[in-house]
Amino acid sequence: MISISEAFKIIERQVRKLPTETVDLAEVRGRILVEEIFADMDLPPFDRSQMDGFAVKTEDTKSVPAKLKIIGESAAGIGFDGEMNGGEAVRIMTGARLPRGADAVQKVELVKEGEPNAENESFVTILESVKEKQNVIKRAEEIREGERIFETGEIVSENMIAPLAAFGYAKVKVFQKPQVAILATGSEIVEINQKPKQDQIRNSNSMTLKVLAEKCGAEVEILPMVKDDIENLKMQIAEAVGLLHSKVQSPKSKVQNEKSKVQNEQSKIQNLKSKILIISGGVSVGDYDFTKPALRQLGAEIFFERVSLRPGKPTVFANLNETLIFGLPGNPVSAAVTFHLFVRAAILRMQGAKNCEPQKGFAVLQHKIKGAKERDSFLPAFVETNKKGKLVVESLRFSGSSNFIAFARANALVFVPQGKSLEAGEVAEIIFL
Ligand code: AMP
Ligand code: MG
Repeated sequence: MISISEAFKIIERQVRKLPTETVDLAEVRGRILVEEIFADMDLPPFDRSQMDGFAVKTEDTKSVPAKLKIIGESAAGIGFDGEMNGGEAVRIMTGARLPRGADAVQKVELVKEGEPNAENESFVTILESVKEKQNVIKRAEEIREGERIFETGEIVSENMIAPLAAFGYAKVKVFQKPQVAILATGSEIVEINQKPKQDQIRNSNSMTLKVLAEKCGAEVEILPMVKDDIENLKMQIAEAVGLLHSKVQSPKSKVQNEKSKVQNEQSKIQNLKSKILIISGGVSVGDYDFTKPALRQLGAEIFFERVSLRPGKPTVFANLNETLIFGLPGNPVSAAVTFHLFVRAAILRMQGAKNCEPQKGFAVLQHKIKGAKERDSFLPAFVETNKKGKLVVESLRFSGSSNFIAFARANALVFVPQGKSLEAGEVAEIIFL
Protein backbone atom coordinates (compact mmCIF):
# COMPACT_ATOMS: atom_id res chain seq x y z
CA MET A 1 0.00 0.00 0.00
CA ILE A 2 1.44 3.39 -0.93
CA SER A 3 0.70 6.81 0.50
CA ILE A 4 -1.43 9.41 -1.25
CA SER A 5 1.60 11.60 -1.88
CA GLU A 6 3.56 8.68 -3.35
CA ALA A 7 0.62 7.92 -5.63
CA PHE A 8 0.58 11.54 -6.65
CA LYS A 9 4.30 11.49 -7.45
CA ILE A 10 3.90 8.37 -9.57
CA ILE A 11 1.14 10.05 -11.55
CA GLU A 12 3.33 13.11 -12.06
CA ARG A 13 6.14 10.93 -13.37
CA GLN A 14 3.99 8.96 -15.78
CA VAL A 15 2.00 11.74 -17.35
CA ARG A 16 3.38 13.38 -20.50
CA LYS A 17 2.38 16.78 -21.74
CA LEU A 18 0.19 16.80 -24.82
CA PRO A 19 1.10 18.63 -28.02
CA THR A 20 -0.12 22.19 -28.42
CA GLU A 21 -2.69 23.87 -30.62
CA THR A 22 -3.89 27.37 -31.32
CA VAL A 23 -7.47 28.28 -30.46
CA ASP A 24 -9.64 31.35 -30.85
CA LEU A 25 -9.89 33.57 -27.80
CA ALA A 26 -13.59 32.67 -27.60
CA GLU A 27 -12.64 29.03 -27.01
CA VAL A 28 -9.80 29.53 -24.57
CA ARG A 29 -11.55 29.61 -21.18
CA GLY A 30 -10.50 26.59 -19.14
CA ARG A 31 -7.57 25.82 -21.43
CA ILE A 32 -3.95 25.92 -20.28
CA LEU A 33 -1.44 28.43 -21.59
CA VAL A 34 1.59 27.21 -23.48
CA GLU A 35 3.15 30.61 -23.88
CA GLU A 36 3.75 33.47 -21.53
CA ILE A 37 1.46 36.39 -22.22
CA PHE A 38 2.94 39.88 -22.54
CA ALA A 39 1.55 43.38 -22.79
CA ASP A 40 2.25 44.69 -26.30
CA MET A 41 1.51 48.29 -25.30
CA ASP A 42 1.36 50.55 -22.26
CA LEU A 43 -1.97 50.50 -20.48
CA PRO A 44 -3.44 52.99 -20.38
CA PRO A 45 -1.63 54.11 -23.53
CA PHE A 46 -2.04 57.77 -22.45
CA ASP A 47 -2.97 59.69 -19.28
CA ARG A 48 -6.65 58.78 -19.11
CA SER A 49 -9.63 60.38 -17.42
CA GLN A 50 -11.58 58.17 -15.07
CA MET A 51 -14.57 60.50 -14.94
CA ASP A 52 -16.82 62.63 -17.04
CA GLY A 53 -15.95 66.20 -16.05
CA PHE A 54 -13.34 68.87 -16.75
CA ALA A 55 -9.60 68.59 -17.23
CA VAL A 56 -7.95 71.33 -15.18
CA LYS A 57 -4.65 72.54 -13.77
CA THR A 58 -4.47 71.73 -10.06
CA GLU A 59 -3.04 75.18 -9.41
CA ASP A 60 -6.14 76.87 -10.85
CA THR A 61 -8.39 75.14 -8.30
CA LYS A 62 -6.41 76.03 -5.17
CA SER A 63 -9.07 78.51 -4.17
CA VAL A 64 -12.62 77.66 -5.07
CA PRO A 65 -15.01 78.41 -6.59
CA ALA A 66 -12.70 78.88 -9.59
CA LYS A 67 -14.08 80.06 -12.91
CA LEU A 68 -12.23 78.60 -15.91
CA LYS A 69 -12.68 79.10 -19.63
CA ILE A 70 -13.75 75.98 -21.59
CA ILE A 71 -11.45 75.75 -24.61
CA GLY A 72 -12.49 72.41 -26.06
CA GLU A 73 -13.49 68.82 -25.57
CA SER A 74 -11.66 65.50 -25.19
CA ALA A 75 -13.83 62.48 -25.91
CA ALA A 76 -12.93 58.78 -25.81
CA GLY A 77 -11.29 58.04 -29.14
CA ILE A 78 -11.06 61.72 -30.14
CA GLY A 79 -8.72 63.53 -27.79
CA PHE A 80 -8.02 67.25 -27.50
CA ASP A 81 -4.80 68.03 -29.33
CA GLY A 82 -4.21 71.61 -28.17
CA GLU A 83 -2.37 72.76 -25.07
CA MET A 84 -4.28 73.94 -21.99
CA ASN A 85 -3.03 77.10 -20.29
CA GLY A 86 -3.69 78.63 -16.88
CA GLY A 87 -7.32 79.66 -16.36
CA GLU A 88 -8.55 77.13 -18.92
CA ALA A 89 -10.43 73.83 -18.78
CA VAL A 90 -11.33 71.12 -21.28
CA ARG A 91 -14.54 69.15 -21.11
CA ILE A 92 -13.50 65.50 -20.80
CA MET A 93 -15.23 62.12 -20.92
CA THR A 94 -14.41 58.87 -19.15
CA GLY A 95 -11.69 57.03 -21.08
CA ALA A 96 -10.52 60.14 -22.93
CA ARG A 97 -6.94 61.43 -23.15
CA LEU A 98 -5.95 64.17 -20.69
CA PRO A 99 -4.99 67.31 -22.67
CA ARG A 100 -1.42 68.60 -22.52
CA GLY A 101 -1.12 71.13 -19.70
CA ALA A 102 -3.84 69.51 -17.54
CA ASP A 103 -2.90 67.46 -14.48
CA ALA A 104 -6.27 66.46 -12.99
CA VAL A 105 -9.96 66.05 -13.71
CA GLN A 106 -12.83 67.41 -11.65
CA LYS A 107 -15.96 65.34 -12.03
CA VAL A 108 -19.07 66.86 -13.54
CA GLU A 109 -20.99 66.60 -10.25
CA LEU A 110 -18.54 69.06 -8.63
CA VAL A 111 -18.67 71.84 -11.22
CA LYS A 112 -21.24 74.37 -12.37
CA GLU A 113 -21.54 75.39 -15.99
CA GLY A 114 -22.78 78.86 -16.94
CA GLU A 115 -24.38 80.17 -20.13
CA PRO A 116 -21.97 81.31 -22.90
CA ASN A 117 -21.17 85.05 -22.77
CA ALA A 118 -21.67 87.65 -25.53
CA GLU A 119 -18.44 86.55 -27.25
CA ASN A 120 -19.81 82.99 -27.18
CA GLU A 121 -17.17 81.88 -24.68
CA SER A 122 -18.18 79.21 -22.20
CA PHE A 123 -17.03 78.97 -18.58
CA VAL A 124 -17.13 76.35 -15.91
CA THR A 125 -16.93 76.96 -12.18
CA ILE A 126 -14.96 74.33 -10.30
CA LEU A 127 -16.60 73.94 -6.88
CA GLU A 128 -14.03 71.75 -5.15
CA SER A 129 -10.22 71.80 -5.36
CA VAL A 130 -8.49 68.87 -7.02
CA LYS A 131 -5.20 67.18 -6.20
CA GLU A 132 -2.65 66.32 -8.86
CA LYS A 133 -3.65 63.17 -10.84
CA GLN A 134 -7.13 63.21 -9.29
CA ASN A 135 -9.45 61.09 -11.46
CA VAL A 136 -6.60 60.40 -13.84
CA ILE A 137 -4.83 57.11 -14.52
CA LYS A 138 -1.33 57.86 -15.74
CA ARG A 139 0.08 56.23 -18.85
CA ALA A 140 1.35 52.66 -18.13
CA GLU A 141 0.06 52.80 -14.56
CA GLU A 142 -1.75 49.47 -15.09
CA ILE A 143 1.00 47.79 -17.06
CA ARG A 144 4.04 48.75 -19.14
CA GLU A 145 4.70 47.47 -22.65
CA GLY A 146 6.73 44.25 -22.55
CA GLU A 147 5.72 43.23 -19.02
CA ARG A 148 4.62 39.63 -18.48
CA ILE A 149 1.01 39.14 -17.45
CA PHE A 150 0.44 35.37 -17.38
CA GLU A 151 2.75 32.40 -17.13
CA THR A 152 3.00 29.11 -18.95
CA GLY A 153 0.76 26.52 -17.32
CA GLU A 154 -1.90 28.90 -16.06
CA ILE A 155 -5.52 27.87 -16.57
CA VAL A 156 -7.36 30.59 -18.44
CA SER A 157 -10.20 31.91 -16.30
CA GLU A 158 -13.06 34.20 -17.30
CA ASN A 159 -11.23 37.14 -15.76
CA MET A 160 -8.14 36.56 -17.90
CA ILE A 161 -10.07 37.09 -21.13
CA ALA A 162 -9.96 40.90 -20.90
CA PRO A 163 -6.15 41.17 -20.71
CA LEU A 164 -5.78 38.61 -23.49
CA ALA A 165 -8.13 40.62 -25.67
CA ALA A 166 -6.57 43.94 -24.69
CA PHE A 167 -3.13 42.79 -25.79
CA GLY A 168 -4.20 41.39 -29.10
CA TYR A 169 -4.34 37.68 -28.38
CA ALA A 170 -7.12 36.89 -30.86
CA LYS A 171 -5.67 33.40 -30.94
CA VAL A 172 -3.96 31.69 -28.03
CA LYS A 173 -1.55 28.76 -27.96
CA VAL A 174 -2.75 26.10 -25.51
CA PHE A 175 -2.15 22.43 -24.79
CA GLN A 176 -4.45 19.98 -26.56
CA LYS A 177 -7.39 18.55 -24.67
CA PRO A 178 -6.80 15.07 -23.28
CA GLN A 179 -9.10 12.41 -24.65
CA VAL A 180 -10.73 10.52 -21.82
CA ALA A 181 -12.79 7.36 -22.18
CA ILE A 182 -15.01 6.12 -19.36
CA LEU A 183 -15.90 2.52 -18.79
CA ALA A 184 -18.30 1.43 -16.04
CA THR A 185 -18.23 -2.19 -14.97
CA GLY A 186 -20.69 -4.23 -12.94
CA SER A 187 -23.35 -6.81 -13.74
CA GLU A 188 -25.80 -4.87 -11.56
CA ILE A 189 -25.46 -1.62 -13.48
CA VAL A 190 -28.08 -0.47 -15.98
CA GLU A 191 -28.37 2.65 -18.14
CA ILE A 192 -29.78 5.84 -16.65
CA ASN A 193 -32.88 5.68 -18.82
CA GLN A 194 -33.71 2.14 -17.69
CA LYS A 195 -35.81 1.04 -14.77
CA PRO A 196 -33.59 -1.18 -12.66
CA LYS A 197 -34.96 -4.65 -12.11
CA GLN A 198 -34.29 -6.67 -8.97
CA ASP A 199 -30.59 -6.60 -8.00
CA GLN A 200 -29.89 -3.73 -10.38
CA ILE A 201 -28.96 -0.05 -9.96
CA ARG A 202 -28.42 2.71 -12.48
CA ASN A 203 -25.00 3.76 -13.68
CA SER A 204 -24.31 7.04 -11.93
CA ASN A 205 -20.51 6.91 -12.23
CA SER A 206 -20.07 7.31 -15.99
CA MET A 207 -21.94 10.59 -16.12
CA THR A 208 -20.31 11.94 -12.95
CA LEU A 209 -16.84 11.10 -14.20
CA LYS A 210 -17.61 12.61 -17.60
CA VAL A 211 -18.71 15.90 -16.05
CA LEU A 212 -15.70 15.98 -13.71
CA ALA A 213 -13.25 15.22 -16.51
CA GLU A 214 -14.79 17.83 -18.77
CA LYS A 215 -14.49 20.36 -15.99
CA CYS A 216 -10.73 19.72 -16.03
CA GLY A 217 -10.61 20.32 -19.78
CA ALA A 218 -10.87 16.78 -21.16
CA GLU A 219 -12.85 15.58 -24.14
CA VAL A 220 -14.85 12.64 -22.89
CA GLU A 221 -16.43 9.59 -24.40
CA ILE A 222 -18.60 7.25 -22.34
CA LEU A 223 -18.05 3.65 -23.46
CA PRO A 224 -20.71 0.93 -23.29
CA MET A 225 -20.92 -0.62 -19.83
CA VAL A 226 -19.36 -4.01 -19.18
CA LYS A 227 -20.74 -6.81 -17.04
CA ASP A 228 -18.52 -8.62 -14.56
CA ASP A 229 -17.10 -10.90 -17.23
CA ILE A 230 -13.34 -10.86 -17.59
CA GLU A 231 -13.18 -11.71 -21.30
CA ASN A 232 -15.63 -9.01 -22.20
CA LEU A 233 -13.87 -6.54 -19.94
CA LYS A 234 -10.52 -7.32 -21.55
CA MET A 235 -12.05 -6.82 -24.95
CA GLN A 236 -13.49 -3.45 -24.01
CA ILE A 237 -10.29 -2.25 -22.38
CA ALA A 238 -8.24 -3.39 -25.38
CA GLU A 239 -10.58 -1.63 -27.71
CA ALA A 240 -10.56 1.54 -25.65
CA VAL A 241 -6.77 1.75 -25.67
CA GLY A 242 -6.58 0.92 -29.38
CA LEU A 243 -4.87 -2.44 -28.99
CA LEU A 244 -5.00 -4.75 -31.97
CA HIS A 245 -7.64 -7.39 -31.88
CA SER A 246 -5.16 -10.23 -32.12
CA LYS A 247 -3.79 -9.59 -28.66
CA VAL A 248 -7.08 -10.25 -26.90
CA GLN A 249 -8.81 -12.79 -29.05
CA SER A 250 -11.90 -14.03 -27.45
CA PRO A 251 -12.29 -17.70 -28.26
CA LYS A 252 -16.06 -17.28 -28.65
CA SER A 253 -17.27 -17.15 -32.24
CA LYS A 254 -15.73 -16.40 -35.60
CA VAL A 255 -18.47 -13.94 -36.44
CA GLN A 256 -17.86 -12.07 -33.24
CA ASN A 257 -14.16 -12.01 -34.00
CA GLU A 258 -14.75 -10.56 -37.43
CA LYS A 259 -17.10 -7.98 -35.99
CA SER A 260 -14.59 -6.96 -33.36
CA LYS A 261 -11.89 -6.75 -36.00
CA VAL A 262 -13.87 -4.17 -37.88
CA GLN A 263 -14.71 -2.38 -34.65
CA ASN A 264 -11.08 -2.40 -33.70
CA GLU A 265 -9.98 -0.90 -36.97
CA GLN A 266 -12.46 1.88 -36.36
CA SER A 267 -11.59 2.33 -32.75
CA LYS A 268 -7.90 2.46 -33.59
CA ILE A 269 -8.57 5.63 -35.48
CA GLN A 270 -11.05 6.90 -32.97
CA ASN A 271 -8.91 6.11 -29.99
CA LEU A 272 -5.49 7.06 -31.18
CA LYS A 273 -5.88 10.28 -29.28
CA SER A 274 -7.45 8.63 -26.25
CA LYS A 275 -4.90 9.15 -23.52
CA ILE A 276 -6.75 8.26 -20.35
CA LEU A 277 -9.16 5.44 -19.67
CA ILE A 278 -11.16 5.59 -16.44
CA ILE A 279 -12.70 2.32 -15.35
CA SER A 280 -15.14 2.34 -12.45
CA GLY A 281 -15.91 -0.71 -10.34
CA GLY A 282 -14.38 -4.13 -9.99
CA VAL A 283 -11.13 -3.03 -8.40
CA SER A 284 -11.50 -4.64 -4.98
CA VAL A 285 -10.92 -8.21 -3.96
CA GLY A 286 -14.38 -9.70 -4.58
CA ASP A 287 -14.88 -12.80 -6.70
CA TYR A 288 -16.27 -10.68 -9.51
CA ASP A 289 -13.78 -7.84 -9.38
CA PHE A 290 -12.02 -8.27 -12.68
CA THR A 291 -10.41 -4.91 -13.42
CA LYS A 292 -6.96 -5.80 -12.10
CA PRO A 293 -6.83 -9.32 -13.53
CA ALA A 294 -8.02 -7.99 -16.88
CA LEU A 295 -5.33 -5.32 -16.92
CA ARG A 296 -2.67 -7.86 -15.94
CA GLN A 297 -3.75 -10.36 -18.58
CA LEU A 298 -3.63 -7.64 -21.21
CA GLY A 299 -0.07 -6.89 -20.19
CA ALA A 300 -0.67 -3.50 -18.63
CA GLU A 301 2.07 -1.99 -16.52
CA ILE A 302 0.52 -1.42 -13.12
CA PHE A 303 2.09 1.47 -11.20
CA PHE A 304 -0.03 1.18 -8.08
CA GLU A 305 -3.10 -0.69 -6.99
CA ARG A 306 -3.55 0.06 -3.31
CA VAL A 307 -3.43 3.50 -1.78
CA SER A 308 -3.54 4.36 1.89
CA LEU A 309 -6.77 6.27 1.42
CA ARG A 310 -10.31 6.16 2.71
CA PRO A 311 -12.37 6.07 0.60
CA GLY A 312 -10.45 4.76 -2.37
CA LYS A 313 -7.97 2.15 -1.16
CA PRO A 314 -8.20 -0.15 -4.20
CA THR A 315 -7.50 2.61 -6.76
CA VAL A 316 -5.43 1.35 -9.69
CA PHE A 317 -3.12 3.29 -11.96
CA ALA A 318 -1.68 1.58 -15.02
CA ASN A 319 -0.44 2.02 -18.55
CA LEU A 320 -1.47 0.00 -21.54
CA ASN A 321 -0.60 0.86 -25.11
CA GLU A 322 0.32 4.46 -24.25
CA THR A 323 -2.98 4.99 -22.49
CA LEU A 324 -3.00 5.77 -18.80
CA ILE A 325 -5.64 3.78 -17.01
CA PHE A 326 -7.29 4.62 -13.72
CA GLY A 327 -9.34 1.90 -12.05
CA LEU A 328 -11.57 3.61 -9.51
CA PRO A 329 -13.77 1.95 -6.91
CA GLY A 330 -17.38 1.62 -8.04
CA ASN A 331 -18.91 3.25 -4.98
CA PRO A 332 -19.99 6.63 -6.36
CA VAL A 333 -18.45 8.62 -3.50
CA SER A 334 -15.16 6.73 -3.74
CA ALA A 335 -15.12 7.19 -7.50
CA ALA A 336 -15.61 10.93 -7.11
CA VAL A 337 -13.04 11.31 -4.30
CA THR A 338 -10.37 9.36 -6.16
CA PHE A 339 -11.11 11.34 -9.29
CA HIS A 340 -10.54 14.60 -7.41
CA LEU A 341 -7.32 13.35 -5.86
CA PHE A 342 -5.72 11.50 -8.76
CA VAL A 343 -7.44 11.62 -12.14
CA ARG A 344 -7.87 15.38 -12.05
CA ALA A 345 -4.12 15.77 -11.49
CA ALA A 346 -3.34 13.58 -14.49
CA ILE A 347 -5.75 15.41 -16.78
CA LEU A 348 -4.37 18.78 -15.74
CA ARG A 349 -0.77 17.68 -15.99
CA MET A 350 -1.30 16.39 -19.53
CA GLN A 351 -2.37 19.88 -20.41
CA GLY A 352 0.76 21.37 -18.87
CA ALA A 353 -0.95 22.90 -15.84
CA LYS A 354 1.35 24.51 -13.31
CA ASN A 355 -0.80 23.54 -10.34
CA CYS A 356 -2.19 20.03 -10.56
CA GLU A 357 -2.82 19.37 -6.90
CA PRO A 358 -6.26 20.04 -5.47
CA GLN A 359 -6.67 23.43 -3.84
CA LYS A 360 -5.90 23.06 -0.15
CA GLY A 361 -7.12 25.09 2.80
CA PHE A 362 -7.85 24.97 6.51
CA ALA A 363 -11.14 25.09 8.38
CA VAL A 364 -12.42 24.67 11.91
CA LEU A 365 -14.15 21.36 12.54
CA GLN A 366 -17.75 21.47 13.71
CA HIS A 367 -17.80 17.89 14.96
CA LYS A 368 -15.34 15.26 15.99
CA ILE A 369 -14.19 13.01 13.13
CA LYS A 370 -12.58 9.65 13.57
CA GLY A 371 -9.88 8.68 11.15
CA ALA A 372 -9.11 5.19 9.86
CA LYS A 373 -6.55 3.00 11.60
CA GLU A 374 -4.35 2.26 8.64
CA ARG A 375 -5.26 4.84 6.05
CA ASP A 376 -5.42 8.58 5.58
CA SER A 377 -8.98 9.76 5.07
CA PHE A 378 -10.41 12.37 2.76
CA LEU A 379 -14.00 12.61 3.87
CA PRO A 380 -16.79 14.43 2.05
CA ALA A 381 -17.58 17.67 3.83
CA PHE A 382 -19.35 20.97 3.64
CA VAL A 383 -17.42 24.18 4.31
CA GLU A 384 -18.83 27.63 4.84
CA THR A 385 -17.87 30.89 6.46
CA ASN A 386 -19.64 31.45 9.76
CA LYS A 387 -20.82 34.77 11.17
CA LYS A 388 -17.46 35.37 12.84
CA GLY A 389 -15.75 35.15 9.45
CA LYS A 390 -14.22 31.75 10.18
CA LEU A 391 -14.18 28.93 7.66
CA VAL A 392 -15.92 26.01 9.33
CA VAL A 393 -16.26 22.48 8.06
CA GLU A 394 -18.71 19.71 8.74
CA SER A 395 -18.15 16.15 7.68
CA LEU A 396 -21.08 14.85 5.68
CA ARG A 397 -20.78 11.50 7.40
CA PHE A 398 -23.02 12.98 10.10
CA SER A 399 -25.84 13.13 7.65
CA GLY A 400 -28.19 10.20 7.94
CA SER A 401 -28.86 9.84 4.23
CA SER A 402 -27.10 7.46 1.93
CA ASN A 403 -23.56 8.29 0.92
CA PHE A 404 -23.76 9.80 -2.48
CA ILE A 405 -26.90 11.74 -1.80
CA ALA A 406 -25.11 13.45 1.08
CA PHE A 407 -22.09 13.84 -1.19
CA ALA A 408 -24.20 15.85 -3.61
CA ARG A 409 -23.85 18.74 -1.10
CA ALA A 410 -20.13 18.29 -0.57
CA ASN A 411 -17.89 21.22 -1.48
CA ALA A 412 -14.76 19.97 0.26
CA LEU A 413 -12.94 16.92 1.57
CA VAL A 414 -11.56 16.89 5.11
CA PHE A 415 -8.21 15.29 5.64
CA VAL A 416 -7.88 13.03 8.68
CA PRO A 417 -4.42 11.53 9.08
CA GLN A 418 -4.13 7.78 9.54
CA GLY A 419 -4.81 6.62 13.09
CA LYS A 420 -5.96 10.04 14.30
CA SER A 421 -9.20 11.57 15.41
CA LEU A 422 -9.91 15.25 15.04
CA GLU A 423 -11.86 17.01 17.78
CA ALA A 424 -14.58 19.60 17.32
CA GLY A 425 -12.93 23.04 17.25
CA GLU A 426 -9.66 21.73 15.80
CA VAL A 427 -8.31 23.18 12.58
CA ALA A 428 -8.40 20.57 9.83
CA GLU A 429 -6.77 20.52 6.44
CA ILE A 430 -9.29 20.48 3.63
CA ILE A 431 -9.42 20.24 -0.12
CA PHE A 432 -11.88 22.44 -1.95
CA LEU A 433 -13.93 20.61 -4.56
P1 AMP B 1 -17.34 -2.34 -6.95
O1 AMP B 1 -16.24 -1.35 -6.88
O2 AMP B 1 -17.54 -2.89 -8.31
O3 AMP B 1 -17.17 -3.40 -5.92
O4 AMP B 1 -18.66 -1.57 -6.57
C1 AMP B 1 -18.84 -0.98 -5.31
C2 AMP B 1 -20.23 -0.45 -5.15
O5 AMP B 1 -20.45 0.57 -6.09
C3 AMP B 1 -21.30 -1.48 -5.41
O6 AMP B 1 -22.37 -1.26 -4.49
C4 AMP B 1 -21.74 -1.18 -6.81
O7 AMP B 1 -23.06 -1.58 -7.07
C5 AMP B 1 -21.58 0.31 -6.89
N1 AMP B 1 -21.30 0.73 -8.26
C6 AMP B 1 -20.39 0.19 -9.06
N2 AMP B 1 -20.39 0.78 -10.26
C7 AMP B 1 -21.33 1.75 -10.20
C8 AMP B 1 -21.81 2.70 -11.13
N3 AMP B 1 -21.29 2.80 -12.36
N4 AMP B 1 -22.78 3.54 -10.74
C9 AMP B 1 -23.29 3.44 -9.49
N5 AMP B 1 -22.89 2.57 -8.58
C10 AMP B 1 -21.92 1.71 -8.92
MG1 MG C 1 -18.60 -4.38 -9.17
